[in-house]
Amino acid sequence: MIYDVVVVGSGFSAIAVACNLVRKLPPTASIAVIGDDPGFGRGTAYRTEMHLHRLNVPAARMSLFTDKPADFVEWLDRKDRPSRDADFASRSDYGLYVRDTLADLLRNRAGRCRVDFIKSKATGCVERYPGALGFLLEHGGEIAGRQVVLCLGLGNAKLPVDIGGLGAGARSHVIDNPWRLSWLTRVGPEDRVCILGSGLTMIDQVLGLRSHGHRGHIDVLSRRGLAPHGHTRDPKPPASVDIDPQAATLSQILRNIRRQVRSGTAWRSVMDGLRTRTQEIWQGLAPAERSRFLRHALPWWNIHRHRVAPDIYDQFQHLRERGVIEFHAGYLQTLTDTGDGIDIEYRKRGSQKIRALSVDWIVNCTGMERAGLAHSPLLQEMRRQGFVVADTLGLGIAVDPNSRALNRQGVVQSNLYAVGALTAGQFWEITAVPDIRTQAEQVAVEIVMSREARPQSA
Ligand SMILES: Cc1cc2nc3c(=O)[nH]c(=O)nc-3n(C[C@H](O)[C@H](O)[C@H](O)COP(=O)(O)OP(=O)(O)OC[C@H]3O[C@@H](n4cnc5c(N)ncnc54)[C@H](O)[C@@H]3O)c2cc1C
Repeated sequence: MIYDVVVVGSGFSAIAVACNLVRKLPPTASIAVIGDDPGFGRGTAYRTEMHLHRLNVPAARMSLFTDKPADFVEWLDRKDRPSRDADFASRSDYGLYVRDTLADLLRNRAGRCRVDFIKSKATGCVERYPGALGFLLEHGGEIAGRQVVLCLGLGNAKLPVDIGGLGAGARSHVIDNPWRLSWLTRVGPEDRVCILGSGLTMIDQVLGLRSHGHRGHIDVLSRRGLAPHGHTRDPKPPASVDIDPQAATLSQILRNIRRQVRSGTAWRSVMDGLRTRTQEIWQGLAPAERSRFLRHALPWWNIHRHRVAPDIYDQFQHLRERGVIEFHAGYLQTLTDTGDGIDIEYRKRGSQKIRALSVDWIVNCTGMERAGLAHSPLLQEMRRQGFVVADTLGLGIAVDPNSRALNRQGVVQSNLYAVGALTAGQFWEITAVPDIRTQAEQVAVEIVMSREARPQSA
């Protein structure tokens, strides 16, 4: 069957696109959502069952829909989880909210379009249908869509070193994908754990370990040894930032931010003020300036911009102050199997000195910030066929300002969109719900308009 729209992916982005399409398309239209996620809508972020894994964006900004900003807060109230707008709800609740919202939309059969959920992975792309793009499915069969939206997320980062030399026992103590939380049940209370990477995922894993009874030492190794800041309990309104996106360089932007903070505006307000303008500023930066940002400013951007809930931050700081968590800034060199653990060698940042750690577990929490193409066999196949190309910074695929993919010749394809982290080259700030929901809505509007403009034959 040829669908009007095929959405590939089953995380938040896919469901946000599907919900917007269901609200906007006429009953004669058809949508297929292809995904391998056990809970459609949860993806990596909202699949967790642990209540202590919390949102890092206040509830008031987490509605699925831009035109119903209170939707998530109202859902929390209906579910007897009364919350204030500024509260940071649990991510498992957010996953339930996304599921419920979709289910409510689908329950109303009268007047809504057809929606089919295909539980599979798309493995390749074929162009044998007139005016439609086909996708090969992992377990056989194929599906085609006149319009296609790729919502493939970030994938998992690869470990920064080869673990081929470790024995099977040691290898089973190297956790490549910490989001399969079952690893936490295998850790002994006094085991020594090294977490690679020091971002939000690291904090989630530390709290997960503690809640599973782990009381041992935790080493955190990252290139700069920087940890995310926390939100405040009493947030100030976002400040208006004085940046001309058409004329700005990275140095000017930094100077303006520093000047504003020095003159007394709280840095969190400045960051929050930047938030709504980030896409515009990014799009105004020359390619060389964007590269400079990624090379030099990214770690600082991440820790100031992606902050954790205040009480989570306090718990984490308390463990750090007690010495339970120890930070190391440096570059991982080697892992050696000692028979009863793993020895880590890293080069200390800013020196040639090699330092060593002996641990029982290594947990990979690196690189959740770039999609790239390497994590996805489907994208690699689509690139080989010329349907997509990597953006110049290697953040994802090249898209135009309307989220339409560019093909190998650099031509915009009016029937192939991408939503979410894959489009970071064009938008940069496109990994969190407030940005993705706007993009999902815009893509849905474009799809509806182009369907209306097309002669309706089949
Ligand atoms: C741990 C974590 C916590 C976060 N917390 C917050 C938060 O508090 N607030 C916030 O706003 N944002 C948060 N984020 C950002 C988050 O990335 C977005 O909110 C959103 O979940 C991204 O959804 P996505 O659908 O784009 O990607 P993903 O959730 O990664 O989903 C992609 C989906 O596509 C599927 N897929 C991939 N390839 C194929 C294929 N070939 N065929 C079929 N299906 C495929 C995958 O299986 C997956 O289900 C968090 C992210 C993480 C990782």
